[in-house]
Amino acid sequence: ITAYELNKFYLDRIKALDEKVESFLYINENVLEEAKLIDEKRKNGESLPEFAGIPIAIKDNMVTKGMPTTCASKILENFDSPYDATVVNMLKEKGFFIIGKLNMDEFAMGSSCENSFYKKTKNPWDLERVPGGSSGGSAASVAARLVPASLGSDTGGSIRQPASLCGVCGLKPTYGRVSRYGLVAFASSLDQIGPITTSAEDAALLLSVFGKHDEHDSTSADYPEKDYVSALTEDVKGMKVGIPKEFFGEGLQEDVKKRVEEAIDVIKGLGCEIKEISLPHTEYGIAVYYIIATAEASSNLARYDGVRYGFRAEADGLIGMYEKTRSIGFGDEVKRRIMLGTYVLSAGYYDAYYLKAQKVRTLIKNDFLNAFKEVDVILTPTSPTTAFKLGEKSGDPLQMYLSDIFTISLNLFGGCGISIPCGFDSNNLPVGLQLMGSYFEEEKILRLAYKYQ
Ligand code: GLN
Repeated sequence: ITAYELNKFYLDRIKALDEKVESFLYINENVLEEAKLIDEKRKNGESLPEFAGIPIAIKDNMVTKGMPTTCASKILENFDSPYDATVVNMLKEKGFFIIGKLNMDEFAMGSSCENSFYKKTKNPWDLERVPGGSSGGSAASVAARLVPASLGSDTGGSIRQPASLCGVCGLKPTYGRVSRYGLVAFASSLDQIGPITTSAEDAALLLSVFGKHDEHDSTSADYPEKDYVSALTEDVKGMKVGIPKEFFGEGLQEDVKKRVEEAIDVIKGLGCEIKEISLPHTEYGIAVYYIIATAEASSNLARYDGVRYGFRAEADGLIGMYEKTRSIGFGDEVKRRIMLGTYVLSAGYYDAYYLKAQKVRTLIKNDFLNAFKEVDVILTPTSPTTAFKLGEKSGDPLQMYLSDIFTISLNLFGGCGISIPCGFDSNNLPVGLQLMGSYFEEEKILRLAYKYQ
């Protein structure tokens, strides 16, 4: 197959099917011309990068030169980035083609992709249901096979939860493993970029491409690069897998629980040792997250003032312009978070909320560190339910927040996690299995996911 044929195949699929799925915000048709050049070079025997001509699509919160980057917000409507995010650069260097930008919840705030200013992405398994979020476009496009792989970002579950709801594979690397340079900041101490793919092998392959140190991001870890693909083949016999009892209680859909229990049996059959463990502070995860994430967001989003980026509303005077730009430019969920974040950081409330939340974050982190003294990998469901109907939770922020109950604590800890499909519920909707690992232990979770698949 030529690079042209490959890219034509995917572009045709996008054109035929994305009208229904609505996962793309921007489609880059230039890939066809670029593909012709690659094929020409190959014919002439010129050397090409390893992945020359492979299309990949990017969540619209990673900046791309020559393509729009909107974060699915009106406020970045006309924003044109002067540079590429580090991950985008690393992909391009290896020959990948950026075939488009994908829909998401505005500024990555949400769990259903319904908070996009532009469109509502549908779940390819049932077009009346949500794909999950915030990387809903990234998961739906891979599930519908509109692209072989995509990139998402995960602040509290935004790669793993939509991957679970769409029946694909989503990896959140360890905080610091992947550069955040060029990722539009939501909550800087939690955000991490990762791949969404159809297999653990592809996830390993992509992480090997961009799981590298970057001097442009001061939180990027100067940690040895790894060949995640060759690590897949090692044995999982004797691997210790912890099952935290706090993740199997109330609120967990019955057939999700069943599928996960069946997966545990399969993993036992692979020779792993299953151990019940406890992560005692799990119940505080959501509360802590929504204090820390909103506090950081309120600060990060202060930069959208109508002067520096994108959209500007006409008004008299500077302050009036700021106010009008932000009231028109931001959607309801973003405004809710800015207000909440500003409140928990304000004098008089800082100690009661923000500082307290930071302390509980440490307790949650210690829970994980203690657990990883006993086990190699922690196994849980990714999401308490399978894909829900469009509109079902959009009127109730708290219900929406609860759909991240199983993914959020990993971001507070900073470790790595992957969601892989583990069967279907009674409505034929995909169920996801989450494997979590300690800092920089991606090989372990990828290997177990690979053997399980
Ligand atoms: N759903 C969570 C939120 O709304 C997580 C989002 C994310 O990981 N970006 O904040």
